[in-house]
Amino acid sequence: MTARPAADVLAEIEALRRDDVRWREGRAFSLVYHAGDELDRLAKSAYAAYSSENALNVDAFPGLRRMQAEIVDTVSGWFHGGADAAGFFTSGGTESLLMAVLAARERGRTERGITEPEMVLPASAHAALEKAAHYFGVRSVRVPVRDDWRADVDAMAAAITERTVLLVASAPQYPQGVIDPVVEVAALAGERGINCHVDACMGGVVLPCLERLGHAVPPWDFRVPGVTSISVDLHKYGYAAKGASVIVHASKALRRHQTFVTDNWLGGRYGSSGVLGTKSGGPIAAAWAVLRHLGDEGYLALTERARRTAVRLAAGIRSIDGLVLRAEPDTTLVAFGARPDLDLDAIADHLARQGWYLDRQGPPPSLHCTVNAVHEAVVDDVLADLAAAVAAVSTGGSRVRTTASGAAYGTVE
Ligand SMILES: *Cc1c(COP(=O)(O)O)cnc(C)c1O
Repeated sequence: MTARPAADVLAEIEALRRDDVRWREGRAFSLVYHAGDELDRLAKSAYAAYSSENALNVDAFPGLRRMQAEIVDTVSGWFHGGADAAGFFTSGGTESLLMAVLAARERGRTERGITEPEMVLPASAHAALEKAAHYFGVRSVRVPVRDDWRADVDAMAAAITERTVLLVASAPQYPQGVIDPVVEVAALAGERGINCHVDACMGGVVLPCLERLGHAVPPWDFRVPGVTSISVDLHKYGYAAKGASVIVHASKALRRHQTFVTDNWLGGRYGSSGVLGTKSGGPIAAAWAVLRHLGDEGYLALTERARRTAVRLAAGIRSIDGLVLRAEPDTTLVAFGARPDLDLDAIADHLARQGWYLDRQGPPPSLHCTVNAVHEAVVDDVLADLAAAVAAVSTGGSRVRTTASGAAYGTVE
């Protein structure tokens, strides 16, 4: 590798962006959440200010300790956590879910001597839970969802055994964007003294705001008896920089099952709250800055915008002949499929050629839109292109693929 001037390397980074999805213009209905360039600049400045600092040990960086504690406190308040609620900042929804599964496994082991733990979860619960099962040796018992895509509580009850350590409900679940019946799922867990995690990675900011805005929101947070932990991704509808999520446990005792401490090496006592060792202070500072800057007022306004736009998008999709909404959106996620004679992949390819990026998912084959503030300005454009795509595909004029078929939500390389 030959040394090159910094300016050169930075210019090349800009050039590497050439084929990226144009998320600032609202073209990405997945992966990036954008509430304007001003907020983006704030997040980046705060990130840069703390990017070199290491949150592995906040004794050395009391400012990071304080920001972390204030973020967790704010989030715990959104969730109506009690005085004993306690949480941690994590690197994302995946790490929060990994920790929820680990904490449940450890509680089952220490309180009930369970050595072959199982978790019971709806087929709709996020793939990261499958990863947690794989990493931590917990058997994942997936239960089909009801016709309305919500968790089937009776089927979950029937799947519980004496080895079950965790039940999961999502608010909302990712694929169809509906909220599971948290009250009933948490009651099953509460009766048995096992953990119930509510995956609010998507809804953890949106739902408290929608409730405050006067929308009907079914119960999903710590006000529901039996809920033992909740996760929210601040890098989604918190509009923070990537690498920001929070998991809150109902009590410090429950949270203790998540932490790890060892002195079984030559380097002394080593404690950690999550998966990572060294971790940048950047995501913490960025999340703190964005939270403080937006305040309740900012989040209420952004949530209202995202929700309004999701409802408009859903109405527009409903009015396009040939498309079927998978569900009325409970929050800000919109998923839809197509009549069997229409090739949904071809529709997505057509949209991709216009620069739109939607998640392809299934079963059943569906397109998925994570609607956020940036989309308010483009909702009519995407609907027009979608109608044109459906028309082109119905007349058989648009079979050329520009993206690999079987495109996925997450990739390996
Ligand atoms: C995004 C998401 C996750 C995973 O979060 P990452 O930040 O991508 O790791 C988990 N659950 C739900 C419901 C999500 O929307």
